[in-house]
Amino acid sequence: MIDTSQKLIVVVLDGLRYDSARKYLGYMEHLVEQGKINCYQVRSELPSLSRPLYEVLLTGTPAVRNGITANHIARLSHEQSVFHLAAKAGLRTAAAAYHWVSELYNSAPYSIISDRHQHDESKPIQHGIFYFEDHYPDSHLFVDAEYLRTAYDPHFLYIHTMNIDDVGNKYGGESKQYEASVRAVDGMLATLVPLWLSQGYRIIVTADHGMNAAGYHGGTEPEERHVPLYICGEQPQLPITNQSEALPQLLLAPLMCHYLGLAPSEAMIALEGPHSKG
Ligand SMILES: [Zn+2]
Repeated sequence: MIDTSQKLIVVVLDGLRYDSARKYLGYMEHLVEQGKINCYQVRSELPSLSRPLYEVLLTGTPAVRNGITANHIARLSHEQSVFHLAAKAGLRTAAAAYHWVSELYNSAPYSIISDRHQHDESKPIQHGIFYFEDHYPDSHLFVDAEYLRTAYDPHFLYIHTMNIDDVGNKYGGESKQYEASVRAVDGMLATLVPLWLSQGYRIIVTADHGMNAAGYHGGTEPEERHVPLYICGEQPQLPITNQSEALPQLLLAPLMCHYLGLAPSEAMIALEGPHSKG
């Protein structure tokens, strides 16, 4: 039985490492301090690269199974994503995201001519606005998402920014420019999250991977792997005993399913249980 009153907004801040989130997302940390939301630490899957982790976040499967093992593998996913599950259950889906997300779930390869705006209810992402330059302003992206939310009333809205990653790649994950891009996103969240909360949305804010001081990610360093997970909504039972333990990133897709009232796919791990403690 699907509860169509449950609506979820997932914000993925590409390249946002855990410690920078806790230091610079002052509005989100205000909500934590006031007991309105919780923040957890997530340890990304490997390789800690964008396209493989988009697939991890949305399908809950590791690269060794899903085959999206590198950024250059531009093909449709072979897995059941949260978009697939939601659309099959009769929920409305939408995304304002980087064009690689369109390539994983709607259409590959991406065409800048025909794929920027997509409206097709037979696709896993029924309403999409997909950008194709890494410096596309996060401020514009959030407004694209707001347009999709208000025009199409999706049950599942996926919002994916790129400026933190872009600036981190250019200047490093401990640079003034990286810090400024994180602080800028906080201002946008401070504008939109109160509105979303007032309308009863569940909200997840997380990242695919982090960023080391040299501007790289892909490997195993904590700076590359550890990302934040802010949850606004009733708290499911999670497989950790305190908030200093890192959650496995494979939990994100089943967590999204939980908030949407969907059964997870066969390949997803259970939300609670004795998996990673690490
Ligand atoms: Zn990324």
